[in-house]
Amino acid sequence: SPGLYIVATPIGNLGDLSPRAADILSRADLVAAEDTRVTIGLLRHIGVKRPMTPYHDHNADHVRPQLIARLATEAIALVSDAGTPLISDPGYKLVRDARAAGHAVVTIPGPCAAVAALTLAGLPTDRFLFAGFLPSKAKARAETIAELGAIRATLILYESGPRLGATLAALAEQLGSRDAAVTREITKKFEEAVTGTLPALATRYADTPPKGEIVIVVAPPGEAPPASAEDADAALAEALTRLP
Ligand code: SAM
Repeated sequence: SPGLYIVATPIGNLGDLSPRAADILSRADLVAAEDTRVTIGLLRHIGVKRPMTPYHDHNADHVRPQLIARLATEAIALVSDAGTPLISDPGYKLVRDARAAGHAVVTIPGPCAAVAALTLAGLPTDRFLFAGFLPSKAKARAETIAELGAIRATLILYESGPRLGATLAALAEQLGSRDAAVTREITKKFEEAVTGTLPALATRYADTPPKGEIVIVVAPPGEAPPASAEDADAALAEALTRLP
């Protein structure tokens, strides 16, 4: 039926395309894709040919009203190159405008590098903050890290290989020796998660930019260390001396 379908696609392993995602993609009247060449490959993989239109940061403002107009009668599937649309990818304004125009919005959830990285890192998962890509300019990056560093949550950042060393160095400088994980090539042949403190990871990747796609996961700020039993006893004894 007509409406906007947000379709998550694999982040490396094509086996992660859900049957429901494949079903929607095979029946959509139109597939709005970040890069149609990438999505053609995916559609070919499932033996499907559908009309496609590019929807990316550079044409979105122009294309969006046309897509919204078509939603009245057509099922439009939104996909990005990999993973979940809208997550460091275009789409939220399309969802906003589709809702405002009273059209159905349906999600077909699936792979997302941020959540996948969190499950690999071995760091607290009860509170996390996804911050996408840090700014590339040093000053803006430092300001963002300072802001994020005060938040009591595990941090999840997207990064590229060439920038990893500089980003880890900046994180280590401002956040100290928090535990962290560098996850790479998730769901692909060379998937890995390298764990360690931020300074150790910064040293490791200082001159050897790794290949592939990367997510950095950083532990929340440490709690004040719990008082030892002796300290607690001494404090209690001292407090008791003050009682009338
Ligand atoms: N929408 C996507 C998602 O749901 O994860 C993210 C798109 S964003 C433009 C691309 C970034 O996601 C990459 O630079 C990398 O940080 C991360 N990423 C995507 N696929 C990945 C993978 N297989 N392994 C590690 N990181 C990945």
